[in-house]
Parts: sequence; structure tokens; C-alpha cells
Amino acid sequence: MSEEKCKKCGAPLGEVVETPTGKKLRRCTEGSWNAELKKNEGCDYVLWIQPEPEELDEQCPKCGANLVMQVTRFGKKMKKCSKGGWDKETKQATGCDYIEWINGSTESLDEKCPTCGEALVLFTTSNGKRMKKCSTSGWDKENKVATGCAYIEWLK
Ligand SMILES: [Zn+2]
Ligand SMILES: [Zn+2]
Ligand SMILES: [Zn+2]
Repeated sequence: MSEEKCKKCGAPLGEVVETPTGKKLRRCTEGSWNAELKKNEGCDYVLWIQPEPEELDEQCPKCGANLVMQVTRFGKKMKKCSKGGWDKETKQATGCDYIEWINGSTESLDEKCPTCGEALVLFTTSNGKRMKKCSTSGWDKENKVATGCAYIEWLK
């Protein structure tokens, strides 16, 4: 398969690795990332892996087709209609244009809050930034104040 080989030098591609923002890529085995100098050494070819849209058990409110979950290049998540597409030549959306952006997500972590000892959760904002925060923290919509423990640690 042509996509298994480096398009620049023809060497095999390395293992799939995940960036801190959850994007997946494969580097050329002739190249390596020097974290100290923050640059590539050797071949700098990188194959970005497009995340497969995940089929959801939900129906499009516009046309009734299945919805899929998609992650953009910037780490934003959205639900979109499986009938929707993108015509690269005309740069226009094709089919059903239903899209619903997801406003962040939380994952439970196996770590304790240094402030109060409760569990921490990993929160991903809608623009792909991640932070650890205390699971007891919340937002009182009526009074517009934060509730619970205020511990937050932003991840780079
Ligand atoms: Zn290469
Ligand atoms: Zn639709
Ligand atoms: Zn806490």
C-alpha cells in the first residue's frame, strides 16, 4: 500500500502516535522528533491520520439519517449528519448540512484533587484545550457562580 511508505524518501512509516491534543500521526522511520531542539531530524514526512467518524445511535433532526461524531483538525468535536459531505472542488457542503457542535467533554481520571482529595476529571473544552479539574466543581447557572472545589490545572 502506497500510504504505508514515506512519500518523501520511501522508508516505512513508524507506529501511530498520538499528540497531546488527541490527533494521530505516523512519522517516517528515517526521521525523529528531537524534543529538546523542538525540530525534526532526518526525514520530516508526517502522515496525519484522519479520525474515522464514529456512528452514533442518534438521528438527524433534519432528514432522519444517522448522525456521526467527527473531530476536526483543531480537536473540536461535532455531531453531523451521515448524509452530509464536502465537495473539495467546489468547496461546498453537499447533502444534509446538519451539524451540532459539542461543547467540551469530561473524562474521569484516576487522580485525586490536591485541594480536597476528591477525584479529578479531565475536561476538554470545545476548542480542544484540556484541563484537570475537581469533580466536585460545578456551575450554578441561576446565580452565575462556580460551586464546589475550584482546583484547575491546565494541560499543555
Ligand atoms: Zn521519509
Ligand atoms: Zn441529515
Ligand atoms: Zn477538589
